[in-house]
Amino acid sequence: MLAGGVGGSRFVRGVREECARRWPDGEGGTEASVTVVVNTGDDIWLSGVRLMPDFDSLLYSLAGVNDTERGWGRAGETERVAAELREWGVGWPWFTLGDLDLGTHLARTAWLREGLTPSQITERLQQRWPLGVRLLPATDTEVDTHVRVADPEASDPEASDAETRGKREMHFQEWWTRYHATLPALAFRQQNIADARPAPGVAEAIADADLVLVAPSNPVVSIGTILAVPGMREALAATTAPVVGVSPIIGGKVVRGMADACLPAIGVETSAEAVGRHYGFRRDGGLLDAWLVDETDAAAAGSLTADGLLAASAPLWMHDLDRSADLAGAAIDLGTAGR
Ligand code: GDP
Ligand code: CA
Repeated sequence: MLAGGVGGSRFVRGVREECARRWPDGEGGTEASVTVVVNTGDDIWLSGVRLMPDFDSLLYSLAGVNDTERGWGRAGETERVAAELREWGVGWPWFTLGDLDLGTHLARTAWLREGLTPSQITERLQQRWPLGVRLLPATDTEVDTHVRVADPEASDPEASDAETRGKREMHFQEWWTRYHATLPALAFRQQNIADARPAPGVAEAIADADLVLVAPSNPVVSIGTILAVPGMREALAATTAPVVGVSPIIGGKVVRGMADACLPAIGVETSAEAVGRHYGFRRDGGLLDAWLVDETDAAAAGSLTADGLLAASAPLWMHDLDRSADLAGAAIDLGTAGR
């Protein structure tokens, strides 16, 4: 599977549950092996530590130690250290790091300093809890996403030409958490992306897969960043497994989050059909063999099918584990139908 953080977590938990139902191992788990290729574009250095927000969301959620009310971070979190950091003027005052969460970031940073790679570190972090799935960072290269925004106030003294005047660039996390994605995004850029390679195990997992699922995650900054890693698209094009995508857009709206602030920057309309066409179909050199949209978007499935593409509709709201598992089942069935 390819996945981002919060939307990804719900879907991955549904897949894990559905696999346990279809292919039980007799001990509550599954005989199926599920590998998740996780977006690393949101990762950032902050207050001296390395954050991997999407990986940590998946880790906490699959381990069952996540805060289900708030929707992110650890359950039972406190913020004493963050208050101290604020007093010292370290980090971002609008970006609170929880104490338990900081434990994860400190451990990760300590291991980075010892010379471990991100994929070795994520492997270590997963050993603490039995997750039932394997999480792999998309790449070991730091490919932090930066956003170029329109800002009439931007008074960069270096900005003499029209190319940079009235525009500035910031880390994705600043745009997302400080400005709540309200500054219009002009472009997204992943640093170092040209030098990146899929992390160890990623290309192998894609090549060996019986089925590839693209989670209903942000098409631009989650799935888009995974696909931007050189070698990733080639691996996905070459696999014999069907590639099935699930729409993160229902009825022309992003379901949770602010993905609708990202799609215009890449010229894609916020609709299930437009995102499906944006991913593209494999027989035309794109990503997908099949595309799953919500029941309310059945017309979009019809219009794609009229173009000879395999699209189907199912309930796409992941309100609870049961509904997430049913959605996973619909995606698995669609992959089998596409064989
Ligand atoms: P992030 O990394 O935390 O932003 O999470 P992701 O990139 O994995 O997913 C965010 C996207 O998930 C949102 O933009 C929504 O479009 C989508 N999403 C969230 N909840 C649901 C749901 O219940 N059903 C579907 N189909 N999509 C959802
Ligand atoms: Ca994310």
